[in-house]
Amino acid sequence: MAPASAVYQRTWLVELVRQELDRARQRLRPSGGVPRQGGNAPSAGEVAQAVASELESLTRVAPTPVINATGVIIHTNLGRAPLSRAATQAAVQAAQGYTNLELDLDNGRRGSRQAHLQALLRQLTGAEAALVVNNNAAAVLLGLCALAAGKEVIVSRGEAVEIGGGFRIPDVLSQSGATLVDVGTTNRTYVRDYERAITANTGAFLKAHASNFRVEGFTAAVESKELVELGKQRGIPVLHDVGSGCLLPTEKYGLAHEPTPQEGITAGVGLVFFSGDKLLGGPQAGIVVGQRELVQRLERHPLARAVRIDKLSLASLTATLLHYLKGEAETEIPIWRMISTPADQVRRRARNWSRRLGGNTTVAQCQSAIGGGSLPGETLPSWALVIPTPTRRGDGPEAVLEQLRRCHPPVVARIEADRVLLDPRTVLPEEDAPLLRAVGAVLEGHNDTAGRSS
Ligand SMILES: *Cc1c(COP(=O)(O)O)cnc(C)c1O
Repeated sequence: MAPASAVYQRTWLVELVRQELDRARQRLRPSGGVPRQGGNAPSAGEVAQAVASELESLTRVAPTPVINATGVIIHTNLGRAPLSRAATQAAVQAAQGYTNLELDLDNGRRGSRQAHLQALLRQLTGAEAALVVNNNAAAVLLGLCALAAGKEVIVSRGEAVEIGGGFRIPDVLSQSGATLVDVGTTNRTYVRDYERAITANTGAFLKAHASNFRVEGFTAAVESKELVELGKQRGIPVLHDVGSGCLLPTEKYGLAHEPTPQEGITAGVGLVFFSGDKLLGGPQAGIVVGQRELVQRLERHPLARAVRIDKLSLASLTATLLHYLKGEAETEIPIWRMISTPADQVRRRARNWSRRLGGNTTVAQCQSAIGGGSLPGETLPSWALVIPTPTRRGDGPEAVLEQLRRCHPPVVARIEADRVLLDPRTVLPEEDAPLLRAVGAVLEGHNDTAGRSS
């Protein structure tokens, strides 16, 4: 391997050495007359070693692939939906060379980057028009800016929600220049609540899906259809942030019903907003479908340019939507393959892992979660590999989780009832070998240290 000084900028290396020396001084400097950690100054070799390891970590491409053995299918911290093979290929192709992103190949003139995707989205959702932007948060913000700035937007108190990562409906509304008018109560809102709040300056009714919590018991929410009726009489559009963008019926898999964009369109909603990388199973994107006149106002708004989608996401989103149009979403889109895998099949895979690993690994029943702001609290019956936890002090399940995270590639597992579980449902088929290597190494480490300490 070439020395670091032949590869990286000299000024950067010097800066890293300085930082390392500063850290060493900090460790040695007395605080209140007592040396912090005592000991001698590090040797030149030790400093070089520390800098080399810092350099190694800084120059690794990030994000780096990890194996998701948590059983949480749409895991926000792990990058939400993994892409299908076709969607991955589409992104790679768009990345490698030039594309007809904004060139109409028929007439050689400037074209729209949206045109192709718009046709597919119209077909899939039944909407008149569609628009795709960077993510759903941007889509909702753009929608409110274009349609409701300077106006009042009526929202149910049960739907003035926080999605996470700072996305709160009241804040997005104020950012857009609209005024929030909240109606009803946390648990119950009726059409008459919306009706009473209408003024000459009402710009829209906004519905937002409670994607990450559930209100149970004495509750009532207004269906889109009822709101559309009222909106028609008074000339007020209904905007619906459905969150996850689920195009398939979740009931089929024993899950609760997740509102779909198609239902919104059928109900006559003006605009439906959803994400590309939740239950749609594609890349990060924000999708708007609905009435042509409204979509055009979004397209013409200056913010549209600031939140536009890039060519890689555009290509992989197109490939993802084609899976739905070909009726192969369940087999080709990873998250739908995971959702539709029967528990028995997951159990066979967990048993196979346990057999191959030996040791004291076992198999136990568990639940996989949908996660990622979709179907809150909904789980699928599943099975997991259980890794025995060494009983020595300081080596509990948390330590095992850490050892797994330090593997190459890192393996992310979960703890349940003090046991370390690895759920095969979210582990891609081609990841079996690296996963078993990682777990094998961790188990071996346990045996070694156990052997030494006895
Ligand atoms: C997830 C979610 C968002 C944010 O979508 P991103 O694509 O992450 O920007 C907005 N609204 C709802 C209801 C959501 O569930």
